[in-house]
Amino acid sequence: MALIVHKYGGTSMGSTDRIKNVATRVAKWHDAGHQIIVVPSAMSGETNRLIGLAKQIMEQPDPRELDMIASTGEQVSVGLLSMALLAIGKKAVSYAGWQVPIKTDSAYTKARIESIDDQRVKADLAEGKIVIITGFQGIDADGNLTTLGRGGSDTSAVAIAAAMKAEECLIYTDVDGVYTTDPRVVSEARRLKTITFEEMLELASLGSKVLQSRSVEFAGNYRVPTRVLSSLTDPLMPLEEEANSGTLISFEEDTHMEQAVISGIAFNRDEAKITVLGVPDKPGVAYHILGPIADANIEVDMIIQNQSVEGKTDFTFTVSRGEYVKAMGVLEAVKEEVSAITLVGDAKVSKVSVVGVGMRSHVGVASQMFRTLSEEGINILMISTSEIKISVLIDEKYMELAVRALHKAFDLEKA
Ligand code: ASP
Ligand code: MG
Repeated sequence: MALIVHKYGGTSMGSTDRIKNVATRVAKWHDAGHQIIVVPSAMSGETNRLIGLAKQIMEQPDPRELDMIASTGEQVSVGLLSMALLAIGKKAVSYAGWQVPIKTDSAYTKARIESIDDQRVKADLAEGKIVIITGFQGIDADGNLTTLGRGGSDTSAVAIAAAMKAEECLIYTDVDGVYTTDPRVVSEARRLKTITFEEMLELASLGSKVLQSRSVEFAGNYRVPTRVLSSLTDPLMPLEEEANSGTLISFEEDTHMEQAVISGIAFNRDEAKITVLGVPDKPGVAYHILGPIADANIEVDMIIQNQSVEGKTDFTFTVSRGEYVKAMGVLEAVKEEVSAITLVGDAKVSKVSVVGVGMRSHVGVASQMFRTLSEEGINILMISTSEIKISVLIDEKYMELAVRALHKAFDLEKA
């Protein structure tokens, strides 16, 4: 017998029939002797609908009131799922975040979990009840409802698994695991049986949106074994088989297999690049350019500063494409102040990254990546590296070609 947390996404909870399916699956696990906590998302589309309503009243919704509204989607889900379990003869009880309680800070719409009380839930589990807890929401020290940011139910589930010391957190979703890259771009993309937390974090933050990045951070910090698996399978499939399906996010030291050099290729189509040309090469330049960008809440990703020529240098960085116009506006305003000659931008660039913990013990990954791109005639605009990742910025029209060529060059289609 083990304590296991199941998380179901919006699609899995998308209709009353689907909720009945979830109940059948959860009951199967409980019947096998496990203690089960379920953390569902709102029914698909519901959070968007709620936020849309708020925006019809107030263009920039008040964050506290927005959380009051947005958090209701999950409350409907837990009630319905609990009823679906009761209807098939299981003991079940649902809780909103504040009833557990799940305590967070007061950063409305992006709150962070601070603590989770296990007493009430543990007592219910001991009585043989299946406990269903809202994802996405919590309560701050003053009793206000908060939400954890879009996709936050993943983080709720992992945090609850950590607090309750669950054996595993199973994230049921509409994909059957984590792939070497997006199968819509490379048809040979392969599902990974395991991936490390660090790799998953790189892939998640690079746009492979299977899990909310913060949930992966949480799982890594609290060592919660987390598995991503499909909720679209037959809910009555053999439990053993289901328990080993999907992709297990694990620790490097626990993977006894020979590590592949590269585990996956991530890409981000919607990048933009901005160059501030001809600024004086003196202390404070980077600060005077990037400070106002940060103040405008624009996230900067890759940064390079060129070698200076006759005391002047160029400064290039990337932002997500949606922030390009805003970032250019900010820089226009400070251009004179930083004595820049001019600004140039390109909003049609994409980032492609190869990720793998195996890189630590293998040399030549970068050169293989660059050779592959050169053989395809793809020009590299910027490069950045970390211990387990190499990213390049390229013209967006070559992005898919680059991903396919790299997938092949690193033998990712082979198990
Ligand atoms: N319902 C919330 C959202 O749509 C949280 C979640 O689904 O994880 O973002
Ligand atoms: Mg999600």
